[in-house]
Amino acid sequence: MKHDDPFKALVLTQDDGKTKCGLQDLTIARLPPGDVTVKVDYSSLNYKDAMAVTGRGRIVRDFPMVPGIDLAGTVLESSAADYPAGAPVVLTGWSVGERFWGGYTQVQRVKSEWLVPLAPGLDSFKAMAIGTAGLTAMLCVMEIEAAGVAPGAGTVLVTGASGGVGSVAVALLARLGYRVAALVQPGRESVHPYLTSLGAAEIVSGPEWAEPPKPLENQRWAAAVDTVGAKVLARVLASMEYGGAVAACGLAGGADLPATVMPFILRGVRLLGVDSVMCPVSRRRQAWERLGRVYEEMPFGDIAVTAGLGQVPQLAARLMAGNNRGRYVIDVN
Ligand code: NDP
Repeated sequence: MKHDDPFKALVLTQDDGKTKCGLQDLTIARLPPGDVTVKVDYSSLNYKDAMAVTGRGRIVRDFPMVPGIDLAGTVLESSAADYPAGAPVVLTGWSVGERFWGGYTQVQRVKSEWLVPLAPGLDSFKAMAIGTAGLTAMLCVMEIEAAGVAPGAGTVLVTGASGGVGSVAVALLARLGYRVAALVQPGRESVHPYLTSLGAAEIVSGPEWAEPPKPLENQRWAAAVDTVGAKVLARVLASMEYGGAVAACGLAGGADLPATVMPFILRGVRLLGVDSVMCPVSRRRQAWERLGRVYEEMPFGDIAVTAGLGQVPQLAARLMAGNNRGRYVIDVN
């Protein structure tokens, strides 16, 4: 590919303080500096992408910006010994698609230290069906395991269960032998059969989840993966069993935490933060290798839907409305 050959990218611009999103022709010559140029096969749509594309939460501050926090493809040109031309690669996080140009493009130039090799058992499509959301779900599972909560110890609650992180977490935990409860917002009965098909043994929902909890509620959960934050996380903490562990990774319901210390000091509950953006490379590789090993046993055919670059704005609005189901793989070509 010549450096002045045009290719398509989704570009965010700002007009009068409002974020605009549209397809543009770019060339390799216009890409930012970096030691690896990647021919992108697929990207994906995550909560943060939806925030960037809709202009919510000031995720993007420098314009023009190519959003897309994930990409998978093949190295086109490289001066990095670890990633020669032809190598299949995956990139998630490192503020790509927020501060640095990201994956909603047919070609991107990046820093080699942001890349991981495609794990055995995966291809570009499968890696993006997993994406940041699936990687984060695996990192949460690894925290729960490291906290010593084994399958058979009790029920593991997943909040925001029908979303990207939640769907993969439900399916992963169920396949590992945990009994999974899926928390769903009221009015979302349509996703109950989907969650049962992913492996949830119990669907949890009710108006109390919108209310602040008592400092301690009945003990229900041995562990939890929380993608919602705010009152939901407060209620999860208050209803953990003695010694339970909560892997907290999200804020789909808000960034606040109206809780007390009672679950920590009276029940020994552990709150474990999970971040996929700056997660060290060795831990990422470990998570990706595990995801590659389990991919074929996972119901990604139900979880992931493919969409084109042009559909991203409409899908992003849907995520922001809080009624997503599963994951979107973005076919950039
Ligand atoms: P999705 O939009 O796919 O899923 C979020 C789900 O949360 C929804 O499907 C819905 O599930 C539930 N939900 C949405 N709004 C509300 C609300 N107001 N109150 C209660 N529940 C709500 O997003 P992702 O799964 O991609 O991401 C989930 C969260 O995790 C986000 O906050 C995201 O920023 C964060 N995240 C963090 C990462 C990290 O590295 N720490 C990495 C990836 C994501 P339902 O209807 O089933 O309840």
